[in-house]
Amino acid sequence: MDLGISGKRALVCASSKGLGRGCAEALAAAGVDLVMNARGAAALEQAATEIRDAHGVKVSVVAADITDAGGRAEVLAVAGDVDILVTNAGGPPPGMWSDWERDDFIKALDANMLTPIALMTALLPGMMARGWGRVVNITSQSVKAPIAVLGLSNSARAGLTGYVAGTSRQVAPHGVTINNLLPGIHATDRADALDRGVAEAEGIGLDEARARRAATIPARRYGSPEEFGKACAFLCSQHAGFIVGQNILLDGGAVNATL
Ligand code: NAP
Repeated sequence: MDLGISGKRALVCASSKGLGRGCAEALAAAGVDLVMNARGAAALEQAATEIRDAHGVKVSVVAADITDAGGRAEVLAVAGDVDILVTNAGGPPPGMWSDWERDDFIKALDANMLTPIALMTALLPGMMARGWGRVVNITSQSVKAPIAVLGLSNSARAGLTGYVAGTSRQVAPHGVTINNLLPGIHATDRADALDRGVAEAEGIGLDEARARRAATIPARRYGSPEEFGKACAFLCSQHAGFIVGQNILLDGGAVNATL
């Protein structure tokens, strides 16, 4: 399917690896020029080179922490008037509700709620003025079904979800859509880190921890960054202009709910 977005420009945050990389790759495959971001310069440069070589699109990189105001300003300066924004950043650490202090919440809110909101605040006016734009926020299945040890994430992402619910209706008249993609478990470094934690806590090997988790998913496997990226690219396509303010689970059926 031709996504109809060849020649457009996208900012894909936190995209040297994992789900962000999957989104960058799929947008590049649709002919979209990219601004890619991550903190580590080496992996970012390598990802950009691979994407340029594979898809022949223009790729700029900004090595910066997207959750930091200074880093964000650097990224936005290079991004300029992008047509597409994919927000993403690392997730908060797991823990126990009784251990979290105000500072832990502030950090999580900054990274996973206020950072995507700041990016939208900066880029939505240009999209609205041009009459076309797409925003996809990478959130989590924990928005629909809480993961108790990820309470910091549950809280921050719920706040972003509420913001998007209202704001998406305000920008839709201008040809701009905002939607959230909710990943269940996907095979990335983040999933490895979570599985290593389980393996250590339960005294089992990493493969066993993965197998046990996969067995709880109706699809009986982890998602891949490639399929996640393709769903993102569709939401950014010309065909998705009537999808507004939605929270789309990509979880292999893990969340057991009718709606
Ligand atoms: P990942 O494999 O660890 O990749 C994270 C990417 O983001 C890397 O490119 C990393 O590069 C970059 N990054 C992290 N923090 C950053 C920051 N502050 N500023 C700029 N770049 C940053 O993670 P992932 O699995 O793709 O997860 C992406 C998001 O989805 C996370 O918020 C995660 O909590 C959420 N999620 C993931 C899953 C899953 O199963 N994978 C499930 C639910 C939710 P640098 O380290 O070099 O910056």
